[in-house]
Amino acid sequence: METTEINLKRVYRFGNGEADGSTDMKPLLGGKGANLAEMTRIGLPVPPGFTITTEVCTEYHQLGKESVKKLLRPEVREGVKFIESIMGTRFDDEEDPLLLSVRSGARDSMPGMMDTVLDIGLNDKVVEGLARKSGKPHFAWDSYRRFIQMYGDVVMKVNTFVTTDQDVFEVILDDIKKSKGVQTDQELTTDDLKELVVLYKEKIRELTGTEFPQDPPTQLWNSVIAVFESWHTPRAIVYRRLNNIPEEWGTAVNVQAMVYGNMGNTSASGVAFTRDAATGENVFNGEYLIDAQGEDVVAGIRTPHQITLKGSQKWARLAKVEEEDRKENYTSLEEYMPEIYQELADIEQKLEQHFHDMQDLEFTIEENRLWILQTRNGKRTGEAMVRIGMEMLDEGLIDETTALKRIDANKVEELLHPVFDPEEVIKATPIAKGLPASPGAATGRIVFFSDDATEWKAKGEKVILVRLETSPEDLAGMDAAEGILTARGGMTSHAAIVARGMGKCCVAGAGALNIDNENKIITVEDKEFKEGDWISVDGTIGQVYSGKIKTKNVEMTGNLARLIDIADKYAKTKVHANADTPETAEIARKFGAEGIGLCRTEHMFFQEDRIKAMREMILADDEKGRRKALKKLLPMQRSDFEDILEAMQGFPVTIRLLDPPLHEFLPQDEASIQEMATTMGISVDQVEDKIEQLKEINPMLGHRGCRLGNTYPEITEMQARAIIEAALNLKAKGIKAKPEIMIPLTGTVIEFKMQVEIVKQEIEKIFMEYHEQIDYKIGTMIEVPRAALVADKIANHAEFFSFGTNDLTQMTFGYSRDDAGKFLPIYLEKGILEEDPFQVLDQEGVGQLVTMAIQKGRTSRPNLVIGICGEHGGEPKSVEFCHHAGMNYVSCSPFRVPVAKVAAAKANL
Ligand code: PEP
Ligand code: MG
Repeated sequence: METTEINLKRVYRFGNGEADGSTDMKPLLGGKGANLAEMTRIGLPVPPGFTITTEVCTEYHQLGKESVKKLLRPEVREGVKFIESIMGTRFDDEEDPLLLSVRSGARDSMPGMMDTVLDIGLNDKVVEGLARKSGKPHFAWDSYRRFIQMYGDVVMKVNTFVTTDQDVFEVILDDIKKSKGVQTDQELTTDDLKELVVLYKEKIRELTGTEFPQDPPTQLWNSVIAVFESWHTPRAIVYRRLNNIPEEWGTAVNVQAMVYGNMGNTSASGVAFTRDAATGENVFNGEYLIDAQGEDVVAGIRTPHQITLKGSQKWARLAKVEEEDRKENYTSLEEYMPEIYQELADIEQKLEQHFHDMQDLEFTIEENRLWILQTRNGKRTGEAMVRIGMEMLDEGLIDETTALKRIDANKVEELLHPVFDPEEVIKATPIAKGLPASPGAATGRIVFFSDDATEWKAKGEKVILVRLETSPEDLAGMDAAEGILTARGGMTSHAAIVARGMGKCCVAGAGALNIDNENKIITVEDKEFKEGDWISVDGTIGQVYSGKIKTKNVEMTGNLARLIDIADKYAKTKVHANADTPETAEIARKFGAEGIGLCRTEHMFFQEDRIKAMREMILADDEKGRRKALKKLLPMQRSDFEDILEAMQGFPVTIRLLDPPLHEFLPQDEASIQEMATTMGISVDQVEDKIEQLKEINPMLGHRGCRLGNTYPEITEMQARAIIEAALNLKAKGIKAKPEIMIPLTGTVIEFKMQVEIVKQEIEKIFMEYHEQIDYKIGTMIEVPRAALVADKIANHAEFFSFGTNDLTQMTFGYSRDDAGKFLPIYLEKGILEEDPFQVLDQEGVGQLVTMAIQKGRTSRPNLVIGICGEHGGEPKSVEFCHHAGMNYVSCSPFRVPVAKVAAAKANL
């Protein structure tokens, strides 16, 4: 096997201005490792270290621990020596010890998903050496207790031995703080820390039955292995699924010399962004903690301080902290260590200029010396993504195609996210303020646990997930929630970062909330909120309100409008919208739709006055009765079509004739049945008989689509008339209209031709009556596999094709659209399906039918206009497929029009 060749390079070193790797080696070295190498090369102060490649992770999962250790041993030994030579200290040395960190680093960053172990190399003897050498026993013992805690959790999995939700070590830490009467970790004395170390070790022995290992090389190996193992934790698997990261990528492991942010008041750790990750504004920003190790900043344990003075003052305003208090207790790094701040600000600039993208970096200050531990392209909200892209374009840092390539089409939708209706929000009751961690507005019912969020969502409820702070275990719940609210944590807390990645609105660190998970109650001052109560959160300003607030949609202006202009310039495939009302047609136009690809006429029949006429038509015994009812429907449909055609200003409007099975229009409950009977002057029994008659076992495969129009041609006639009369009326007013009549559920040529005949005859009649004509087209949906198979024959009679991939997916897979929900989640979980085929087009199967039908269709009619109007028309990967398949347009919901435009442009780059 190739991967087991002895001379394969498995370890890449970096340090002292030189590195084996570089930033373009991300697949092999992982994002973190590749950038550590690159930063070293460009002369930044990076602690020396080495990266074990992602290929070794794959080897580990194939060959197992012992074989991989054997393969790695010589290079790891050399790597450690390399670090020792630069640092001038030695690993596993009791006098002048070198400590190491082990961090994961996948190709794409997976924040907080995988494991890290710091301070490796400490034991009962080394800790004394470190204390002597540094002259800081408190620091040495603090590091030791941290190490045992991290190693115990990550490597020895101590927390899996208990059933409680609380971290075993945190409980001990809290107890000791209580018994010593102190608030924060730093207030513990060296003796307290020594006591803590003893208690930690005892707990490990008690729970695992094994000793905390004293041998540094064992600690190192086990930590490396734990990182490989963490690639397969449930939370990492969920994250990969949500972010489409293939399992076979694996993670690299970075082994690096420790630098210490916890060496007292001249030391610190922090996280910084070269631009604002929430809004995209070009301001350097970030958070840091004095006398802390890196993990403290993101863990949300202490409130971090801001890096810049400006940022600090802004934070204070939001947190309602007075200037005096801010200066004293929440000093910015700019004020606290001006020189280091300047060095960091210069590095920040250098990194952006080098990587041509917004960077998210981690740093440590060890006794007034700055070290950079990581840089990566920063995760950002959709809003920030678009703003940064457009501004970097202006700054000449990137060109248009790079700007487009960097846009994640799915995230564009976030910019179209609702905000609270300004009129309603004035009347709402604010209950707490937190940090504006991820923009957007959401309203929903309170749930306290991730599992509840997923369960409630499955029942169709909108929920807000309320947590003290979130952890990677909450991922599924966060995904299910409309919005996230936490009581603790800063702008770089887990909740904030993950919510931004998901494009969910999030308010973090709303300290006024008292969350009682056990009783599922939140208290804020004297108010109480229970599970199921409605609350609303505005992640753009960090405000929490009680009750439900109506949300409102946003405008297409500024950076977004500009991005879409650029996308239009590069895209070949046009974007139309699925819209059934004049209002949605307006929205579609606003978002740049160049036509309506699907107007489902049946949606118009559900309004109060219409449904009665519709039911009357369905209940009629004969054609005469049906025609009488259809006459009532005609003017209603005509005026709807007039409005929609007018809203679309001469762009094509594809109107589909009646599609759903008729039983969907009939009353279900007794009262409505009674009312129906009275209105129609027939008995309840007669109504019930009709309902019974229309019942179908598989209605979606039953009496619907053109099967209706061919059995009741008068329905087709009425609809054709409504469409053409609407267009003629507009023409008379000097308004352009371009109607296209679409026949649904075509399977055979004859059934399509028959519908075409009916439509054409009716239209001829209308033209005679009006002494006026209008251009129109007649085409079909391709949504039955048979239609795809005989597409060449259908194309002889159809002027356009529109792929109804919802039905085509249903019939190709044999999965009922209505019932697949019962097993699809399990299929996805088990990996039987990679993606939900009703969301992402199955290119392998359904895609073949699509490609074949296009090819056959265009053989008969070379200029055949072809589009798609199933849900897939707004899904970026499917849009890319449609582009390559040669479709003229995709049609999707109005809110996804900009998404589809970006996807279409990217597909054509
Ligand atoms: C389809 O089947 O893809 C389609 C657009 O039609 P409907 O969803 O209305 O069946
Ligand atoms: Mg359909």
